[in-house]
Amino acid sequence: MSAPSSLQGTLSRTWLQRAEQVMPGGVNSPVRAFRSVGGRAPFVASADGARLKTVEGDELIDLVASWGALIFGHARPEVTSAIHDAVAGGTSYGMPTTSEVELAELICDLVPSIDMVRMVNSGTEATSSLLRLARAATGRDEVIKFEGCYHGHSDSFLVSAGSGLATYGQPSSPGVPAATAAGTRVARFNDLESVAAALSDDVAAVIVEPVAGNMGCIPPEPGFLEGLRTLCDDSGALLIFDEVMTGFRVALGGAQARYGVMPDLTALGKVVAGGTPAAAYGGRGELMRMIAPDGPVYQAGTLAGNPIVTAAGLTTLRLLAEDPSIYDSFDEAGTIISRRLSSAFTAADLPGLVHQVGGMVGVFLGIDEARRWDDLAGLDPELFARFFHAALRRGVLLPPSPYEAWFLMQSHLDGPLDEALSALEEAIAEAAS
Ligand SMILES: *Cc1c(COP(=O)(O)O)cnc(C)c1O
Repeated sequence: MSAPSSLQGTLSRTWLQRAEQVMPGGVNSPVRAFRSVGGRAPFVASADGARLKTVEGDELIDLVASWGALIFGHARPEVTSAIHDAVAGGTSYGMPTTSEVELAELICDLVPSIDMVRMVNSGTEATSSLLRLARAATGRDEVIKFEGCYHGHSDSFLVSAGSGLATYGQPSSPGVPAATAAGTRVARFNDLESVAAALSDDVAAVIVEPVAGNMGCIPPEPGFLEGLRTLCDDSGALLIFDEVMTGFRVALGGAQARYGVMPDLTALGKVVAGGTPAAAYGGRGELMRMIAPDGPVYQAGTLAGNPIVTAAGLTTLRLLAEDPSIYDSFDEAGTIISRRLSSAFTAADLPGLVHQVGGMVGVFLGIDEARRWDDLAGLDPELFARFFHAALRRGVLLPPSPYEAWFLMQSHLDGPLDEALSALEEAIAEAAS
């Protein structure tokens, strides 16, 4: 009797070889494959607080934080036990539950511009559903996005889309119909004139990451978000904030609360589901009532708002709402990160820049200005790869691309961050030499 083919040869092949045989690049999301820094991604066995444990038993301080989905740390006990409790009662019913209502109420309470909300399974779904809604509400077809901003992988947004694509040198993707890409106009972040030039009465919506987080971390300059609001009001286009990354990360009420500018519609993801696969979209009541079954705009999801994700999301948001001092702590940590890494750049005689907004950090090696996508042309991938591996050898896992933001978690703050910064200072010196 022979072993099932999936077990044959497992002893002689590494996990990476097995993975690459059966999954494109060996991964389920491209940036995990380390193609832009070279080398092999670690396979993670488990994680706790600020640290990942690899299958080889190494411990790494994790500045990826599931790409921003984790705000407290890995395996926060309240969140994992809420998930355990929910799972014990079944994982999905396809019928309404009270925890969906509680989560929706809490989101509407916390995010200033949201009156009504719909849960979906990913950020990609949230933004693509919002685009459909914006088109239906305005009777217009076109959309304006910004160079270097990422809104998930749906066709209309896969144009000049930042980190993941920049890493792979693909300005857009084969398979996106030319007609679809043509309906997407691209403007420059922090450049209102480029938006004014792209606007017309064919434009249904302007979509923006209010703090750009898929080209490092680039904050909006004073007046930029306010200017978008005015331009949209004047032209009749809707303003969509993609807060999949910034929501509950740069402030309890997201970037809209932090900067005091209200979009018409908002996409949420990552933190909203406490590290489980869910996202949400919401906005003003009269727009959201256009969504089926209240209105004619169809959007649905078999597993949307299931008990696992609502337990994780509700517990996470309740903990944040009980003690929002986490955002001040992130800003204080940001000052320290900025001071220590900037001194390390100077000591290494390397240009460099640190941006931080709440729990998002952008570290730009080798350039001294980052206001928009063009400014990132001077990033040197080889310099970044040396820095990345020097950090990894010292036990610090950074996002494996010069275009990705780093993410703070609460569990970094009492010790691991200090440890990571010491390692990063050495890594900067090593990369520059
Ligand atoms: C991560 C991200 C998305 C996509 O979310 P997925 O859950 O990966 O589909 C969309 N917009 C922004 C700003 C993001 O950071």
